[in-house]
Amino acid sequence: MKLAVVGPGRMGREVAALALEEGHEVVAKLGRDTEISSGALAGAEAVVEFTLPEVAPDVLVALAATRVPVVSGTTGWSQHLGRVREAVEAHGSALLHAPNFSLGVAVFRRWVAAAARALGGLPEYDLALHEVHHTGKVDAPSGTARLLAETVLAATDRKDRWALFPGGAVDREALDPAVLRVSATRVGRVPGTHDVVFDGPDDQILLRHTARNRRGFARGALEAAVWLRGRQGVFTLDDLLDDRLDALPSRASRRPLDPP
Ligand code: NAD
Repeated sequence: MKLAVVGPGRMGREVAALALEEGHEVVAKLGRDTEISSGALAGAEAVVEFTLPEVAPDVLVALAATRVPVVSGTTGWSQHLGRVREAVEAHGSALLHAPNFSLGVAVFRRWVAAAARALGGLPEYDLALHEVHHTGKVDAPSGTARLLAETVLAATDRKDRWALFPGGAVDREALDPAVLRVSATRVGRVPGTHDVVFDGPDDQILLRHTARNRRGFARGALEAAVWLRGRQGVFTLDDLLDDRLDALPSRASRRPLDPP
């Protein structure tokens, strides 16, 4: 597949390197000084975009006009999704966006939803989110933490909003049981760790996803670029995962266990 990479930073470089290893062709790498146009994309069949939160909406609107399918991994711009969606739909192009392209995170999110649903019957347990990333990350909490927080809110009536739990003195209002507390730490080179903690009077359940490197994000983004070919509209990684999970044999169709 012919690919263009927009945003030649840590993720852009990882995507380009993996694409070459996997036999794709990287026909264009566009940085902040290159204007986006069909010509600049040099015949690419898909674009993978990892730029910065403050530029991503404009970049995505400009890319929509080229009608080349776009996979966007930039985080922290979801408040502009409406404008980007309008552009994608107006041009009949395709966009798949996800704040975390690790397929492991997509699976993790489903488990978090199932666990949050269980909160309804377990009033003695509370739940909180914590994420850790490298010091170069500009947004907090991470896009993945926001996605997990929204997942929890949709799955339980016990929480009606989430808030970034402040450092320093404890704000009593933030301890309102209806608030889902989210905290973030920036240290060293951590590519991304997300914890979901269920805390009860006698025990604690910790669900953790740890990214080992950026390769998993790049792999998911490339897989999304292949999946997006021939589609139109706005998608998330969940759409791809739904396809994959649907492809698994259902319980009923599996061979019954041999009798003991
Ligand atoms: P980075 O700072 O290393 O790279 C960003 C790059 O974008 C830089 O090279 C910068 O010059 C370039 N850029 C800035 N403005 C541009 C423009 N107008 N056009 C083209 N390029 C432009 O950052 P990074 O670590 O590569 O992360 C990029 C984004 O991806 C961040 O928002 C980060 O949170 C996110 N991220 C997402 C995932 C995921 O799986 N979705 C994984 C890791 C990081």
